[in-house]
Amino acid sequence: MIARSARPVTIAAAMTIVTRFAPSPTGFLHMGHAYSAFAGWHAARMAGGLFLLRVEDIDTGRCRPHFEDAIYEDLAWLGLTWERPVRRQSEHLPDYRAALAALESLGVVYPCFCTRKAIQQEVARMSRAPHGPDGALYPGTCRNLPQAERDQRIGDGNAYALRLDSARAASVIGEATWLDELAGPQRVMPALFGDVVLARRDVPTSYHLSVTVDDHLQDITLVTRGEDLFHATHVHRTLQILLGYKAPIYRHHRLITDDAGQRLAKRSDAMSIRHHRAAGMAPGEIWSSIGVSDMP
Ligand code: GLU
Repeated sequence: MIARSARPVTIAAAMTIVTRFAPSPTGFLHMGHAYSAFAGWHAARMAGGLFLLRVEDIDTGRCRPHFEDAIYEDLAWLGLTWERPVRRQSEHLPDYRAALAALESLGVVYPCFCTRKAIQQEVARMSRAPHGPDGALYPGTCRNLPQAERDQRIGDGNAYALRLDSARAASVIGEATWLDELAGPQRVMPALFGDVVLARRDVPTSYHLSVTVDDHLQDITLVTRGEDLFHATHVHRTLQILLGYKAPIYRHHRLITDDAGQRLAKRSDAMSIRHHRAAGMAPGEIWSSIGVSDMP
C-alpha cells in the first residue's frame, strides 16, 4: 500500500505535458488498461499536451501481432487518440544498446551467467536471501567474478545477462529523489530490487532499461501508470541519473480490481475490453464501470 499525502503536490509547469500509455502485446487489453490509457490521455488533454502510445514488445517469446492489432483497435473503439507515430520497442534495439554502453562505461554493469534455476537454488540455499517488493532478489552470485573468468566464460560461448551493480550505482548517484504527484517526494532507493537485469540472455535489453530510455527519447514529462509499478520507479530514476536524463514526474494511479477485489490479469480474457464489447457493452458503459465520467 502506498502512503498518499493529503493533497496532491501542485506542479507549476510551463512546459508541454507529454504522457504515454505503454502496453505490452502479450494479451488483450482489459479494464485496467483502459483506465491507465485514460489517465495518460486525460492528463495530456487537460493540459493541452501530447498523449503518446508505445508498444512494449521486446519480450519476443510472449508478444503476438494479433494482440498488438487489438491494442490499436480497442483504443480507437474507446475513443482514445494519440499523437506522433507509435513507438515499437522492437524497432529501437540500437537505442538500448547505446544506453547499455554508457552504463558499462560507468562500471555499473556486469555479466551474469546464472540460469533462472541456478538463482532459485542459490536463494533456497541461503538462510537469509535478500528480498524486495516482489520477492527474492538476485543473490549476487556473478557480481564479483574476476574479469579473467568473465572473459573466459564469454569466450567459451556461455549465455549471459547484463545486470546493474546496484551498490555501485547507489554510490555513483548519491542522494536523489523522484516525485509522485499523489504520494509526494520519494528518496531514491537504487538497491530496492537488487541487481536488476538490464539486458536479458535472449533479448539485448530489459523492461527497466527500455522504459527508461524510451521515456527519455519520447520526452515524456508525466508518467501515468498503475501503482503496481510504483516501486519500479526507484530503478528507473536510478538509471535516469546514471544516464544523465531529466526526471519526468510520476502519477501512479489506483488499480482496477474485479468484484472479488483481485487485480485484473491479462490472462483473464473474460475481463477483456473486446469480451465486453462482444457482449454488447458500449464505450460509455466501459468508462462508467471504471469510474470515468469525463470522456467526451
Ligand atoms: N509495459 C508495461 C505493462 O504493460 C507498462 C510499463 C510502464 O507503464 O512503465 O505493464
